[in-house]
Amino acid sequence: MSSSPSRFDRGHTDDLMTFLAAGPSPYHAVASTAERLEKAGFRQVAETDAWTVTPAAEAAGSSGGKYVLRGGAIVAWYVPEGAAPHTPFRIVGAHTDSPNLRVKPLPDSGAHGWRQVAVEIYGGPLLNSWLDRDLGLAGRLTLRDGTTRLVNVDRPLLRVPQLAIHLDRSVSAEGLKLDKQRHLQPVWGLGDDVRDGDLIAFLEETAGLAAGEVTGWDLMVHSVEPPAYLGRDKELVAGPRMDNLLSVHAGTAALAAVATSGGGLPYIPVLAAFDHEENGSQSDTGADGPLLGSVLERSVFARGGSYEDKARAFAGTVCLSSDTGHAVHPNYAERHDPTHHPRVNGGPILKVNVNNRYATDGSGRAVWAAACEKANVPFQSFVSSNSMPCGTTIGPITAARHGIKTVDIGVAILSMHSARELCGVDDPHLLASALTAFLEG
Ligand code: ZN
Repeated sequence: MSSSPSRFDRGHTDDLMTFLAAGPSPYHAVASTAERLEKAGFRQVAETDAWTVTPAAEAAGSSGGKYVLRGGAIVAWYVPEGAAPHTPFRIVGAHTDSPNLRVKPLPDSGAHGWRQVAVEIYGGPLLNSWLDRDLGLAGRLTLRDGTTRLVNVDRPLLRVPQLAIHLDRSVSAEGLKLDKQRHLQPVWGLGDDVRDGDLIAFLEETAGLAAGEVTGWDLMVHSVEPPAYLGRDKELVAGPRMDNLLSVHAGTAALAAVATSGGGLPYIPVLAAFDHEENGSQSDTGADGPLLGSVLERSVFARGGSYEDKARAFAGTVCLSSDTGHAVHPNYAERHDPTHHPRVNGGPILKVNVNNRYATDGSGRAVWAAACEKANVPFQSFVSSNSMPCGTTIGPITAARHGIKTVDIGVAILSMHSARELCGVDDPHLLASALTAFLEG
């Protein structure tokens, strides 16, 4: 006998699946985050506007929800009625990018009658997971006039065909070996007449743009298979980019919930979703750039604050850095620490590493535990086996760059960095509940 393993109705998870499918690139992910925040009353503020001396200051400094979009990153915050310039922030941090294959500057290639697209490897994908999938192409086009346009060819357009086993008998004994340059170039049709500009011309036509209008592009491939419930009782979800759109989605839901709850808030709740975590965060839209500090600082000044107010606010600020972690794998349990075995649907995880691969310390644990207790959410602890190098995320970077107390948390999944990952049906909702309690203070 077994009862339904799901503690919740599936509304949150259904919505997560919609969000995952709508975010084939970081640019799409932030657009869909902004759309959700707009529905909760948030308004966009331009970084190029003055926030302190013009009517835009009204918009930036007043109470209510605002957000800044920059490339594949978004920072959103909600100023409660009566917030002081030195009111501390409570931040949920996450990242919008996922490992994948990205289009090279001269993409048009091919051989032996095949049309191919030249790609680079972004981040650390499980390369095998990109083989023999139906792939679409999505990203951002920059036009001659400097404006940008999102594009998403969400149909089977490309494929990285795996070599037949008959032509590589060693694969069974020695495992699959992929050369990153030679073996991962997708095909996208047939033709001997490959010309420079073919792919971009195809995208211009697809996006309804005039020929020659696109002068820059940031394009990447994605699996077109939609997310799906999985398992005997549908207690699992299979889908792309859970690392880390699962956290962006939960953070967005939490921020929208506290902004529309109407209650008084002791902190200024913030969502910071960065690009480029998968390759080290060092960019103008990454966690190791000035974006978050600049937005928070300007929001203090826009409310009439001084440098002193900013220092006071930052000193009292806490960031929950939310990213996916590793659930115990039934086929590889020995890869995990023997006493720390996060289970799927067991609640979100607290991530600890004493060498600061994660920013959590004992006092951070207490903040997280208090939020979970308030939300009636169970949580689990993750620590790497001492024999394995520990991964890292935006937590330690945020802590070091801004001097902000940071705690690393997240949801335990399987198949991290696969083109199709696997999580539990309950954990995303439990994470969102804990984040909401944290942002409420
Ligand atoms: Zn991640």
